Amino acid sequence: MPDTLTAAATLANDVTMPWFGLGVFRSQEGDEVENAVRWALDAGYRSIDTAKVYANETGVGRAIAESDVPRESIFVTTKVWNSDQGYDTTLRAFDASLERLGMSYIDLYLIHWPVKGKYKDTWRAIERIYKDGRARAIGVSNFLVHQLEDLLDSAEIVPMVDQVEFHPYLQQPPLQQFAREHGILLEAWSPIMKGEAATEPVLTSIGRRYGKNGAHVALRWILQKGIVAIPKSVRQERIVANAQVFDFELTPEEMARIDSLDRHHRYGPDPDNFNF
Ligand code: NDP
Repeated sequence: MPDTLTAAATLANDVTMPWFGLGVFRSQEGDEVENAVRWALDAGYRSIDTAKVYANETGVGRAIAESDVPRESIFVTTKVWNSDQGYDTTLRAFDASLERLGMSYIDLYLIHWPVKGKYKDTWRAIERIYKDGRARAIGVSNFLVHQLEDLLDSAEIVPMVDQVEFHPYLQQPPLQQFAREHGILLEAWSPIMKGEAATEPVLTSIGRRYGKNGAHVALRWILQKGIVAIPKSVRQERIVANAQVFDFELTPEEMARIDSLDRHHRYGPDPDNFNF
């Protein structure tokens, strides 16, 4: 059970990845994202999740470069955007991300969305990047079971991670099972339901027993399920508070009560039906 902010999962290739990290979707390039990353590192976070399309890789890289924490102690994830998918274009997009981040390697490089007709070529390029040692681990995002199955038909390397929308209202049991069976680590985006977890009635009632809010309970439940969580905030007090999830443990009954909240509700787009 993860017991500190630096506790890490071991991926299929033996690279370790912190169970907990900071998301920076909708964190503005410049001061906003730089402050968020700096506060997170100060609070003990060692994993940052960005993407080309978030348009804040430069700020993420700058905050990391300026921090006292060595680059190699920080796990940096970025993603290839949909319009860059394809073999050559992915190789170029990767170089451009490295350049903006000011880094010589990425810890985890992901296909952001399963763009039909493109993601297999994209994956071949990402396998190339991995073999060249420029990404320590590689994976996908927003892939459902059938998209993973299709990718695995031709993949040389099984994705080490699938980053998907995951929270008490969207649990996708078949995907959890498929990932477990194939050694793919799931990573939860929107883990605190865009903030709604903080006031969700069942989560808050469970949290009361531990002096925690509903966001803490959602995050703790995700960690206890063996899934990585990357909550986003640009406010220092929330960045610090959201990480206070290593000093309590949900009982099996509480875990089951949260499991029963599943209602297949998406806050974000459906990977089977998106048009961007
Ligand atoms: P989250 O579930 O992390 O919620 C973030 C929202 O909740 C923000 O509006 C934030 O506002 C607010 N918030 C943060 N902490 C609290 C709190 N304690 N109480 C109440 N509100 C709070 O959603 P995200 O969609 O941002 O997901 C997290 C990360 O996952 C992203 O930042 C990104 O890195 C990744 N992601 C990946 C996607 C993909 O396609 N692969 C898609 C979407 C996200 P404020 O900043 O003002 O505190």
